[in-house]
Amino acid sequence: MQLQLNEQGLIPAVAQDRFDGQIRMVAWMSQESLAQTLATGQATFFSRSRGKLWLKGESSGNVLRVHSVTADCDADTLLLLVEPAGPSCHTGRPSCFFQRIAADGTLHEEPYEMTPFLGELERTIEERQASTADKSYTRSLLDGGITKIGGKIREEAGELVEALANESDQRVLSESADLLFHVLVGLRARGLGLREVVRTLADRAQQSGHAEKSSRKA
Ligand SMILES: [Zn+2]
Repeated sequence: MQLQLNEQGLIPAVAQDRFDGQIRMVAWMSQESLAQTLATGQATFFSRSRGKLWLKGESSGNVLRVHSVTADCDADTLLLLVEPAGPSCHTGRPSCFFQRIAADGTLHEEPYEMTPFLGELERTIEERQASTADKSYTRSLLDGGITKIGGKIREEAGELVEALANESDQRVLSESADLLFHVLVGLRARGLGLREVVRTLADRAQQSGHAEKSSRKA
């Protein structure tokens, strides 16, 4: 199958963060900008307003390192899995997608960009940490510090091990959710996020890939 470019010779490309799944932006690509993207590993689009190739982040430094380019079933839209260096929207926001459409069809600017659910959950934890009036369970964990959070992580890890060994799938899922939640709170207490954990896993996978390759050569 061939790529289906439109009458202007362009194809829309969706850029998605490889680590947290957030959709960053959508822009047009020409055959030439796609070729340049594949050759350089940096997202290069076609600017319709300027009528020329546009290396994303050329002036701001907020480039998109491209991990892979995939066409959809009709080959008329591209998906770029990217590792963004800094915000991707010209407004300075990480993602272009922050105008929620209400039931009546009107647009409402949201303080946060759309993220998959884990990102939402992290944001809720962060809000509970920041609020002075909050009396939630999350807040009590954060107020208790690493001693309290660490105690819960140990307890939940033990319960998960028990569930894996002897209990129903439902219990395994429930205990996994508990453990993951408390890990997120622990990360928050240290000012870290899940995206950095996923990135660490990806780096590791890449390194072991390299190791595997060089061992094959030996
Ligand atoms: Zn934007």
